[in-house]
Amino acid sequence: MKIRLDNVVKTFDTFRAVHGVSLDIGSGELVALLGPSGSGKTTILRMVAGLEFTDGGTIHFGDQDATDIPVRDRGVGFVFQHYALFPHMTVAENVAFGMKVSKVKRSAAEIAARVDELLRLVRLEGLGNRFPNQISGGQRQRVALARALAVDPKVLLLDEPFGALDANVRRDLRRWLREIHEELGITTLFVTHDQEEALDLADRVVILDQGRIVQEGTPEQVCRTPNSAFVMNFLGDANRLPATVSDGKARVGGTELEAAGFANGRANIYLRPRDLDWSATEPGIAATVTRVIDKPDGRRILATTVDGDHVELDVVPETVARVGDSGFVRIHRARVFAEAG
Ligand code: ADP
Ligand code: MG
Repeated sequence: MKIRLDNVVKTFDTFRAVHGVSLDIGSGELVALLGPSGSGKTTILRMVAGLEFTDGGTIHFGDQDATDIPVRDRGVGFVFQHYALFPHMTVAENVAFGMKVSKVKRSAAEIAARVDELLRLVRLEGLGNRFPNQISGGQRQRVALARALAVDPKVLLLDEPFGALDANVRRDLRRWLREIHEELGITTLFVTHDQEEALDLADRVVILDQGRIVQEGTPEQVCRTPNSAFVMNFLGDANRLPATVSDGKARVGGTELEAAGFANGRANIYLRPRDLDWSATEPGIAATVTRVIDKPDGRRILATTVDGDHVELDVVPETVARVGDSGFVRIHRARVFAEAG
């Protein structure tokens, strides 16, 4: 089922939380809504679910205008971070719940067979008789997904479903979710503030800032060609160095970078730590090492440039660098953005 949001607006009292968001989600697509806390992700998801009505614009499910259809008739399944399981029901009873209260009547045997099938799908076979407090947090979110899938939703909505779990459990769960998505092909909207999670999981990433879409594209597109300093910063660590542009070149600390199309004057250069190297000899921006942090897969060097700017470099573990060393920051890749404002 494809979903289309057209110029959707939401205002709480006088505060506009969502400013004219337009978005197409293809049938079977897994789209991540990514943005910092307060950027309007949950509000958008709740409007798609029908838990919140829009103050402007329309939401279509396929060719049908769903804008005013109430939640129980939209055919959506949802999983929220704090959408707790019923504690007094077993895992199997939780999964069966939606089917028991549904308008579609099923026999007890049909429901039991479907529960078994869903527990197999989420790899929780044999745990049907446990209560929620007898399983792990990751298992609870898998039960929540099974419960959401039980009523054959046309659309699956997930709001930071793994937000409360440990990093390694989260990673396992998103790989698992991706596999389930590939198996079932349900159109899915996944909300997260974690860029790693969004990039890992989604076919397409939609980046929000203050209730507006600022960029959307495949993980490759948004990572390789961020369209603003905001996106560049939000997707990962980035160093910012003030530069001067003249005649299509940006200059910083004696180094010249391509800046075609930028007006003469001030600009900012953004550099990923991994796009930098440390060298004892020129060329590069002269700098002094202030700290070295060793990690399993390399070293991070913290340095201060001749102009007094702080930079962080991710280099191979063999790189020789000690606090107080003078050397040069080599730039392999950089992005220039106009100064904000
Ligand atoms: P996110 O999920 O991206 O963190 P939300 O959609 O929850 O953001 O919230 C977006 C903005 O709308 C926030 O500033 C939040 O405080 C505000 N907001 C959300 N729900 C309400 C509400 N029911 N009443 C008033 N303000 C709200
Ligand atoms: Mg939220």
